[in-house]
Amino acid sequence: MDKPPHRFDTRLSHAGRAGTHALGFVNPALVRGSTVLQPSCAARLEAGAQRLDQALIYGVLGTPTHFALEDVIAEIEGGSRCQIVSSGLAAVTTPLLAYLKSGDHALIPDSVYGPTRQFCDGMLRGLGIETTYYPPCIDADGLAALLRPNSRVLYLESPGSHTFEVQDVPALAAAAHARGLAVLMDNTWGIHAFQPFRHGVDVSIQALTKYVGGHSDVLLGGITTNDPAHWERVRTAAMALGQYASPDDCWLALRGVRTLGVRLRQQMQSGLTVARWFAERPEVLQVLHPALPGAPGHALWRRDFTGACSLFGVVFQPAIRAEALHAMIDALTLFGIGASWGGYESLALPSSTIARSVSPPLPGPAARFHIGLEDPADLIADLTTAFAHLRGGA
Ligand SMILES: *Cc1c(COP(=O)(O)O)cnc(C)c1O
Repeated sequence: MDKPPHRFDTRLSHAGRAGTHALGFVNPALVRGSTVLQPSCAARLEAGAQRLDQALIYGVLGTPTHFALEDVIAEIEGGSRCQIVSSGLAAVTTPLLAYLKSGDHALIPDSVYGPTRQFCDGMLRGLGIETTYYPPCIDADGLAALLRPNSRVLYLESPGSHTFEVQDVPALAAAAHARGLAVLMDNTWGIHAFQPFRHGVDVSIQALTKYVGGHSDVLLGGITTNDPAHWERVRTAAMALGQYASPDDCWLALRGVRTLGVRLRQQMQSGLTVARWFAERPEVLQVLHPALPGAPGHALWRRDFTGACSLFGVVFQPAIRAEALHAMIDALTLFGIGASWGGYESLALPSSTIARSVSPPLPGPAARFHIGLEDPADLIADLTTAFAHLRGGA
């Protein structure tokens, strides 16, 4: 009889440490290298035929350090193989290029990460690939009505960037599969809490820059698949594009991953504590946190997710002017103002520049908050003081 699989924290402690990765030390070795010396010409030919495997052929195809991280990310995502690339954005663009060619059509959620939209509107359009932005909360029938004979990719991102709409992934994936599309999903927010392959996703995209790195000092992406055909597609595109990530960064991500479970649990709790505080304030119209009871998308979140991260949105009363919101954020002393998230430190960012094509605008000025590992009581005290600036514009 099979042993029951180990639980998440146990797997995080042990994944990626098997065999050649470990060399006897606790941690996988940091291997830097371009050339891999082969014992003979025949061995060189044999190695070259194993480009889809974890074979030591040439640095750009991976070192033991890359393969160790690949194993860990595949484990977290519940997939079989993972291609490590240089950034989260590269993990977005590589599979889009793998599945789309000139004349094809892709469906992209209107709530998509901004640089993904720019890639579609710029590079993909230049290559003769059409994109349709669809409302992220569309149902399967609505999606089917948008499909064209040349539709090849359904792209998902759930919850949406800045606006946190939760998508009905299983229903949308089934509708797309019925018409032969590949289903690609940016699963960065749902890391570990959403198991993409159990919900019909073919290719799962992770910005490892966020919680896996966890310390705001690494840029990395992971593209995970769960069957050989999708793996070949993704791996072939990554090789053709020369995708490569520094082994030093992979090594830092491997260090980050060992504490991912405890960090995520703590940050989810602290995030919910701060989100509940926002929800009680009269200056706040709506908190966009799928794990908060009563928030938009909560029912789907409860159905499909087993947890949450600590990134959420806050919509303020429409009477509050953007200048007052900016003054409030400027007055925060424990929240940095900047892009990215998933580190140990808290961040705040106005959502004023988000682009949308088919969704209604947010009903008031909004901001995105990332809750780090500080004590939430201190964060709430900081927010309480800074909120005085909201009155000026109200
Ligand atoms: C940050 C982010 C990315 C891109 O990651 P980088 O490593 O910064 O390029 C992709 N998708 C989402 C949802 C993100 O938040």
